[in-house]
Amino acid sequence: MDVREKLNILSAAAKYDVSCTSSGSRRSAPPRGLGDACPAGICHTWSSDGRCVSLLKILLSNACKYDCAYCANRRSNDIPRATFTPKEVIDLTLEFYRRNYIEGLFLSSAVVGSPDTTMERLVRVAKELRRVHRFGGYIHLKSIPGASEALLHEAGLYADRTSVNIEVPSERSLTYLAPEKNYASVYAPMNYFAERKIEYSAGRIGRYTPNFLPAGQSTQMIVGASGESDLQILTLSAGFYKQQRLKRVYFSGYVPVNADKRLPALTTKPPLVREHRLYQADWLMRFYKFDYDEILDAKHPNLDLNLDPKAGWALRHPEFFPVDLQTADYEMILRVPGIGVKSAQLIVSSRRYCKIRLETLKKMGVVLKRAKYFIYHPDIPAGVRQFYPEMIRPLLLAPAKSQQLDLFNPPTTLALPSPTLAPAATTGPQLLAVG
Ligand code: SF4
Repeated sequence: MDVREKLNILSAAAKYDVSCTSSGSRRSAPPRGLGDACPAGICHTWSSDGRCVSLLKILLSNACKYDCAYCANRRSNDIPRATFTPKEVIDLTLEFYRRNYIEGLFLSSAVVGSPDTTMERLVRVAKELRRVHRFGGYIHLKSIPGASEALLHEAGLYADRTSVNIEVPSERSLTYLAPEKNYASVYAPMNYFAERKIEYSAGRIGRYTPNFLPAGQSTQMIVGASGESDLQILTLSAGFYKQQRLKRVYFSGYVPVNADKRLPALTTKPPLVREHRLYQADWLMRFYKFDYDEILDAKHPNLDLNLDPKAGWALRHPEFFPVDLQTADYEMILRVPGIGVKSAQLIVSSRRYCKIRLETLKKMGVVLKRAKYFIYHPDIPAGVRQFYPEMIRPLLLAPAKSQQLDLFNPPTTLALPSPTLAPAATTGPQLLAVG
């Protein structure tokens, strides 16, 4: 099998890993033109400073010895199998990099032979790229559960980021769906990396301490393959952020690829809205100082699919509102729906010099059509401040009136949206229009 065939198989097999997304472009070079685009293997991801970078995203092998129910590469599936040699992956990375297709490598693998055999090949790729070819681009390596600490240590020295996927959000479900795996073998590399990273960051290793996993570690959870609640998923994520100091937890809505009586039917649609709400809740934990048990609790174990989790929290806690932006502390301003981190910082820094006006709030990026129900401001009509959740909820859910216009058949008259912001309310919509 030639390298191009292997690339087609092993880049397609890597698409279920959501740590980065595939660009999917396919374009042939025009006659005597330069450059073409091929969906195989190139994906986009984002660096911490917001840049979009392209990575070669592939598996080293899809010939797995395990039989996890949810996985397209499980051993019982009759699919084309391929395995790269480390040299093939190194050559592909260097050639793609020289042609400016990519800025780095995302290398994962099924378990071939044993966890140590697989991990040794992954590490060899990263080590040779760094030491023999002096490759300075980004490298993300998967860690294989069950691999030895010596190999994990080398992975930490040569990769920027590593990840080991927890896959299923409870040990009970993991045992049911992937009987050859267990939580202990997944947690072992995470804990090892977390401890080594602390040692290396504290400079305790020696005078010339190398950089150990500078981009930290991440994991991925499949959502919807088993019956865990969102509260269980967020509890697990919060533990990863606190104890294993993970940089990111990714959620992947379950895509049915196998007919298996342990799993939802093949016709089940991936739970994309739920996945989106989980990412919003994750964002609240990482940037808005929310604890997981504030977002959900035993009475509300699942996220509201119709409302973002921050608005959901605000509606469950009317006792905290309205918030006076002129005097409230930063943490409380952050909790107002419609106010983001940047806007909250601007509010806190500018209110020292002047009273904050509604026009200024808009310029700071505050979404007033949401925030107005939760803040005190002298220019907001008094009726809006008489906050009660049953009234606010339908207004936050009101569908947008925007409409995509047809380029070639424009409507004869354009129905412009009415300036009133409360379409359905009959008990005081006049009071709710702001600005
Ligand atoms: S070990 Fe990984 S690649 Fe192998 S079947 Fe399980 S999930 Fe798939």
